Amino acid sequence: MTAVSKVAIVGSGVAGLAAAIQLARAGVAVDLFEAKSELSVLGSGITLQGNALRVFDALGAWDDIRAAGYPFVGLTLRAPGPGAPAVAELPDVKSGGPDYPSTMGMPRPELARILLEHAVAAGAVVHFASRITDLSTDEEGGVGVVIDGQPFDRYDLVIGADGVNSTVRGLIGIDTKPESTGMGIWRTFVSRPASVERSELYYGGPMYIAGYTPTSENTMYAFLVEKAQDRFGVTDEDAARIMIEESRAYDGPWNDIRADLEAGATANYTWFTKHIVDGAWNRGRVVIIGDAAHSCPPTIAQGAAQGLEDALVLTELLVARDALDDSLWAEFHERRVPRATAVVEASVQLGQWQIDGDRDADAGGLIFGIAQKMAVPA
Ligand SMILES: Cc1cc2nc3c(=O)[nH]c(=O)nc-3n(C[C@H](O)[C@H](O)[C@H](O)COP(=O)(O)OP(=O)(O)OC[C@H]3O[C@@H](n4cnc5c(N)ncnc54)[C@H](O)[C@@H]3O)c2cc1C
Repeated sequence: MTAVSKVAIVGSGVAGLAAAIQLARAGVAVDLFEAKSELSVLGSGITLQGNALRVFDALGAWDDIRAAGYPFVGLTLRAPGPGAPAVAELPDVKSGGPDYPSTMGMPRPELARILLEHAVAAGAVVHFASRITDLSTDEEGGVGVVIDGQPFDRYDLVIGADGVNSTVRGLIGIDTKPESTGMGIWRTFVSRPASVERSELYYGGPMYIAGYTPTSENTMYAFLVEKAQDRFGVTDEDAARIMIEESRAYDGPWNDIRADLEAGATANYTWFTKHIVDGAWNRGRVVIIGDAAHSCPPTIAQGAAQGLEDALVLTELLVARDALDDSLWAEFHERRVPRATAVVEASVQLGQWQIDGDRDADAGGLIFGIAQKMAVPA
């Protein structure tokens, strides 16, 4: 007996798909609604820390994900200027425990494809081009779901995993909104020079951070973090040109990245945001998880990991309990809110130290402390 037998999930990002896999595997009827007409994922590559990899194992997806990604250990810090001199080789904490690599890079579309395949194989019904526009509570306590203005069906629970600008969050009256942190990021997906075997970050140049992370034998993603600006109208051609110009201070593998951009690799731009819903993430039988509940700059690459942990903890409780009651919600919030808050606060602090040019800040200590915290399962 599970606490719910029929659930609607809104959003096919990592949080929604992870929740769909776990509930469908437990025999719960799952409808997943995605506003987009197909699984399209912007943003090239993603860095997944050990605690995210541990969740993939719990979902039964780890073998597929490991085969499609690029696991690595450590982090290299380089300086701008000729030869891109390495200034430090940092070890990292195995935040997923000893059984998983400390970090893995991965193409985002591959991650989305694998999770979708597992959700469908487990029995979740995925509805693309289906935007949730309203919710209603019926007399028996179920939640009615409205898709593109048309009533669709009623559910025991609705999980809003609909991202940073969540519609579900607004529909249940939570007025927390994401704010800009003052930083913007250019990202591109390029070929991997053989010398790049782990994430490498450049501090101290004209950008707040320049860096790249391998995502497979042949690919990696590269990024430049700058002061947030209104870049949203730029053409694809201008985007690549800006990334080429802004990366001129960086040598070494950046020469290969610029060559790929010259040859047609595309660049995209977005701002970093921050928010955390303080207190309960549910209102009755509707709950938000993932970026709907919290967002942060990727300064420690924990955003997706936190959404995955939200999904795992929530579904573990829904499957283990036989009632959707106050004690279930209390345990969910106790296990999730302080941990996600710690990640958001540390990620924002790391970005702010860079904006302030604070060179005495103990960034390494803060990163290490969070990694140790994450090593204890959620
Ligand atoms: C620049 C940048 C770099 C990042 N790098 C990393 C990293 O390296 N590592 C890491 O762990 N995290 C990283 N993150 C964070 C990570 O990308 C997010 O935390 C994660 O992707 C959020 O997943 P989600 O499932 O909560 O939401 P999303 O992936 O945003 O999915 C939400 C889905 O809901 C759909 N949707 C929205 N509204 C509706 C509606 N009304 N009806 C139906 N569907 C709807 C959307 O179309 C979307 O598909 C980064 C974030 C940014 C901005």
